[in-house]
Amino acid sequence: MNLLLFAAGECTGEGLLRLTGRRAGHLRQVLRARPGDELQVGEINGRIGRGTVSAIDKHSAELQITLHSPPPPKLPVTLLLALPRPKMLRRILRAAAEFGAAEIHLLNSYRVEKSYWQTPVLAPATIRDHLLQGLEQSRDTVLPPVHLHPRFKPFVEDQLPCLITGRDALLAHPGDTPLAPTGFTQPTLLAVGPEGGFIPYEVDKLLAAGCRQVSLGPRILRVENAVAALLGRAI
Ligand code: SAM
Repeated sequence: MNLLLFAAGECTGEGLLRLTGRRAGHLRQVLRARPGDELQVGEINGRIGRGTVSAIDKHSAELQITLHSPPPPKLPVTLLLALPRPKMLRRILRAAAEFGAAEIHLLNSYRVEKSYWQTPVLAPATIRDHLLQGLEQSRDTVLPPVHLHPRFKPFVEDQLPCLITGRDALLAHPGDTPLAPTGFTQPTLLAVGPEGGFIPYEVDKLLAAGCRQVSLGPRILRVENAVAALLGRAI
C-alpha cells in the first residue's frame, strides 16, 4: 500500500481519520507506524496529501489529514475487455487501475463462458475493492468507471461506434498486422479478447465499428499479460 485511501465521509471536518480493520492492521503490522509518523494518504476520487499518525493501538489508528495535491493523470485509455475468468478478472481490475486506465468496459464474446457473468467478482463492492488495491499501489485516488456489456452484438453495433468517436481504437488480435503504437497522446480504446480469442465474426464486427487491428508481436500472450503489455505501451 503506497497510498492510504479513505472515503470523504470517513474524515471529520477537522481532518481527523479513524481507521479500523485492514488499513489499521497494515499501519501497525506492515508499516509499524507510531504516533508522529507521516504517510501518504488520498481521498477516494479526490486529492492526495499527508496523514500524521496521532494515535495507534491494537484495534485502531487515528491520523490527522492534510490534502494538498491532485492525483496523477490517467492514461488516455478506455479498456474494452472480453470478460475473463474470475481469478484473472481480479488481477486485471487491479492492474488496470494501477496503470491508470480511465475507464473499463467488460464485454461478452462467443468464447466467454456464460458462468463468468454470475461471478461474485462482478458485484460492485468487489470490483471497487480490487480497483482500490490498484490505486493504492500507484498512488492514485480516482476509481475508473466499470461498465458491463453482457450482449456482444448490441454493444458493438449501437454503443461502440459512439465510444470510438474521437478516439483511436485498437483491436489487439494476433496476426500479421502493425505493432500496437507506444506513448499514446490521444484518447485510445484498447480491445482485448478472451482466452480463446475473438472469433472471426467478432473481429469483423469490431473492425466495422471502427477499430483497427494491431499486434503485440509473434508471441501469444495470456489475457492479463496482453492487457499489461498494451497499457505499458500507452505510457
Ligand atoms: N488463440 C487466441 C487467438 O489466436 O486469438 C489467443 C487469444 S490470447 C490468449 C487473448 C487475447 O490477448 C487476444 O484475443 C488478444 O486480444 C490478446 N493478445 C495476446 N497475444 C497477442 C498478440 N501477440 N498480438 C495481439 N493481441 C494479442
